[in-house]
Amino acid sequence: MPKDNVTRRSFLKSSGLAAVGAVLATQVSPGVAQTDAVSDAAVPAILGGPKSHTSGWKGWPQWDAEKFNPRMNAVMSGRVWSRSGKVDEFEKKWAEMHGSKHCLTTVNGTNALSAAWMQLDIRPGDEVICAPYTFSASVFGVLYKGAMPVWADIDPMTFQIDPEKIKAKITPRTKGILPVHICGYPSDMPAIMQIAKEHNLFVVEDACQAHLAEIDGQKVGTFGNAGCFSFQTSKNLPIGEGGGILTDDTEYYHRLYSYHNYGYASGTKPGQVSSGITSFILATKIRMAEYQAVIGLCQMEKLEEEHLIRNENATYLSAKLSAYPGVTPVKFHKGGTQASYYIYSMVYNPEGLDGLSRGRFLEALNAEGVPAYTGYPNDPIYTQPFLNDVFQSEIYQKFYTKDELDFEKYKERNHCPALIKTFNSAIWIGAQGIMLGTKSDMDDIVNAVDKIHNNVAKIKG
Ligand SMILES: *Cc1c(COP(=O)(O)O)cnc(C)c1O
Repeated sequence: MPKDNVTRRSFLKSSGLAAVGAVLATQVSPGVAQTDAVSDAAVPAILGGPKSHTSGWKGWPQWDAEKFNPRMNAVMSGRVWSRSGKVDEFEKKWAEMHGSKHCLTTVNGTNALSAAWMQLDIRPGDEVICAPYTFSASVFGVLYKGAMPVWADIDPMTFQIDPEKIKAKITPRTKGILPVHICGYPSDMPAIMQIAKEHNLFVVEDACQAHLAEIDGQKVGTFGNAGCFSFQTSKNLPIGEGGGILTDDTEYYHRLYSYHNYGYASGTKPGQVSSGITSFILATKIRMAEYQAVIGLCQMEKLEEEHLIRNENATYLSAKLSAYPGVTPVKFHKGGTQASYYIYSMVYNPEGLDGLSRGRFLEALNAEGVPAYTGYPNDPIYTQPFLNDVFQSEIYQKFYTKDELDFEKYKERNHCPALIKTFNSAIWIGAQGIMLGTKSDMDDIVNAVDKIHNNVAKIKG
């Protein structure tokens, strides 16, 4: 049932659908009662009424072939395909856009994160406090160093790691913090950096979903020692595959560069054999290619504009949806100013909808033409087998006690109740492109929620 202040009529007054309803009501052919036309539009699609949204959503990724193909062709015909000037240009622009000193690109976000941890002084026996609302890619690098991930619970209204929970997990062995700006909302970096400063900890931000998100005007990914980004297809800057690391620490940057290129001297270009076959550090090879950088540069041209559209749409949508007691738009912590809205998210409360289950609500919402889902399944990262697999390795057996590696005990120690709650209450508005829609598209989403709110009993069946 809707709150008193959200009757269907009060909503219709303020939405684009009001106009449609009015036209329908005045233009129906004689013999059809006006009220029938109006009430039909109010029937949820799941009960046979018309969909709230029929025009489809913007596809993703976007490629302006006329504008971008010539640039792509130039690189392909130019025969310089491995890392060179285009990658340099992409890095320079990405760093500038964030107000960061350095950017190093990588093949993807997973390897950006792993590289960031690999080049920090983290050792077996150390602990890194990690955000649990994410998946394995965030944390592989911590394990490559032989360190122990310790999980601090999230705030269920912001989805972000809770600084108070971080404090409670600090021990003399703690060496780092791994916040994940999940769904593209900013984690509370000022509070996290304060904790890091007090305890002399490294911070690697997983900003893989949080392109251009901001806290008081400062972009996420620029607070910690490193900020890692993904340019995978679904992300707000899509290349297909690609990643980037931001840092202000010049010495660290040079180590990262060397690491991403066989351990050669920092700045060595592919093909520079004369200066480049001496490897100085244990390394890998995770270089971005020129054609990836060209795709990225093309995408970057529209990113800031798209970011503004997403933020305008999200602000509008959140203001409208906050009138409905069953859905609460994910909140910013104090200081958070902009999100990337990689995934516009809400917290579902069945009590606000007379006990309508989240699953049934999602079915009804999807029937309205609004793609939405539960987000990550209820499979907490600290219970996943890859951790236990690592715990069986010789290096872990050597540096940790039997008790520390007992997986049942590990799961218990790291249990995060707010995370579990969130698995069962999150709603992710799905499919990139939705938040790039028009205001009337946003009204369609509100109308869909409104119809469901007004017909809970019937939808419950
Ligand atoms: C996408 C993503 C990654 C990994 O990035 P890839 O480019 O896909 O390797 C890591 N962490 C988070 C939170 C992500 O969303």
